[in-house]
Amino acid sequence: MPVDLLIHNAAQLLTVPGPVPGLGPQRGAAQREIGLLEDGTVAVAEGRIVAVGPTADLRQRFSARESIDATGQVVLPGFVDAHTHAVFAGERAGEFEQRLAGASYLEIMAAGGGIMSTVRATRAASLEQLIAESRPRLDAMLAHGTTTAEVKTGYGLNTADELKMLSAIRRLNEEHPLDLIPTFLGAHAVPSEYAGRADEYVDLIIQEMLPAVSDQGSAVGSPQSAICNLQSAIFCDVFCEEGAFTLAQSRRILEAAKRLGLGLKIHADEFTALGGAALAAELGATSADHLAATPEEDLRRLAAAGTIAVLLPGTTFGLGQTHYADARRMVERGVPVALGSDLNPGTCWCESMPFIIALACRYLRLTPAEAIVAATLNAAYASGVGDRVGSLEVGKQADIIILALPDYRHLAYRFGSNPVQTVIKAGRVVVQH
Ligand SMILES: [Zn+2]
Repeated sequence: MPVDLLIHNAAQLLTVPGPVPGLGPQRGAAQREIGLLEDGTVAVAEGRIVAVGPTADLRQRFSARESIDATGQVVLPGFVDAHTHAVFAGERAGEFEQRLAGASYLEIMAAGGGIMSTVRATRAASLEQLIAESRPRLDAMLAHGTTTAEVKTGYGLNTADELKMLSAIRRLNEEHPLDLIPTFLGAHAVPSEYAGRADEYVDLIIQEMLPAVSDQGSAVGSPQSAICNLQSAIFCDVFCEEGAFTLAQSRRILEAAKRLGLGLKIHADEFTALGGAALAAELGATSADHLAATPEEDLRRLAAAGTIAVLLPGTTFGLGQTHYADARRMVERGVPVALGSDLNPGTCWCESMPFIIALACRYLRLTPAEAIVAATLNAAYASGVGDRVGSLEVGKQADIIILALPDYRHLAYRFGSNPVQTVIKAGRVVVQH
């Protein structure tokens, strides 16, 4: 039978199978099921996976127009980055240097730094400038094996500039091989013009921004993307933290978003346990993110609700801190764990999921197999696309990466260089190192 592409003779082929196809993330002991096949082959036709199995078997059944010899290499699903702020203007290297010299977050804010500094740069940028500044970051992510990424707004913080950010995400999704999942994060920070009036800003989010971002596209009429209809935000997210939004404000926003049919996410317990994880569980959120300070009883709530913990070790590392989320305990409690880069200009300018995996194994106490499931299948479910990407299973989009490594454990064992040799997106080679 003729196919478009055969990737054959992989030393290790990781299928990362789901529990039942399309039925949710892996958790507990199943979080380490990578579906390892030695001397494996994957067959692709019309951008989809049509067969996965032993090389001898598949080479007999299929003749391919194009074939890639993966002898001595590891083949696995493309990484899904479940949490990024990849679209922004400007940079904050000066602020990084101030922090190294001992300046506190509040001192940096008082000097005009912090999120508002990126908000000013993003508001000042035209749509075209915002796209041009963000594109190289997507190129770097793709080169490091990321084939799907969630991207948040949250540097506009007024209706027009939040919509501009969503347009940038949609345009980049259309023009770039990476598939992007848009999340509305109007509640990223209280903008300086609303200082001391946070509740009024929450009113603006609920009354004006949310209705605008949830049906933005019906007026714009963008073409269907390969992976999902990107006409509007798919998720709504809130930064629930001291100095950002209170638990009560977070609840108001997420409940309003839920009424509009958006999926829910929350930045919770990054530094302080305000109850954000419990709120995520109560509202049936798709994910609760950060969770470095989540108490035991809230982990049980997340497990019971099936809410995915999206962990971001790059941010803790980026801040030079040492209090990492305890993923080992989450796996033991049955919370499904996913990974994201948290790529952002303030605390974590990191485009490399292999580096995030290396951190997760050392500091979150995940095994290499658990970290790979977290960075592929579970991250896909955290991004709302687990039925379409995140594993090498028949019928899924052919998003596949080939690593110049002899054993999957080297992905976590080595760090600081890029092990990704080839990236295949929807059946097409888009990166070849
Ligand atoms: Zn974030």
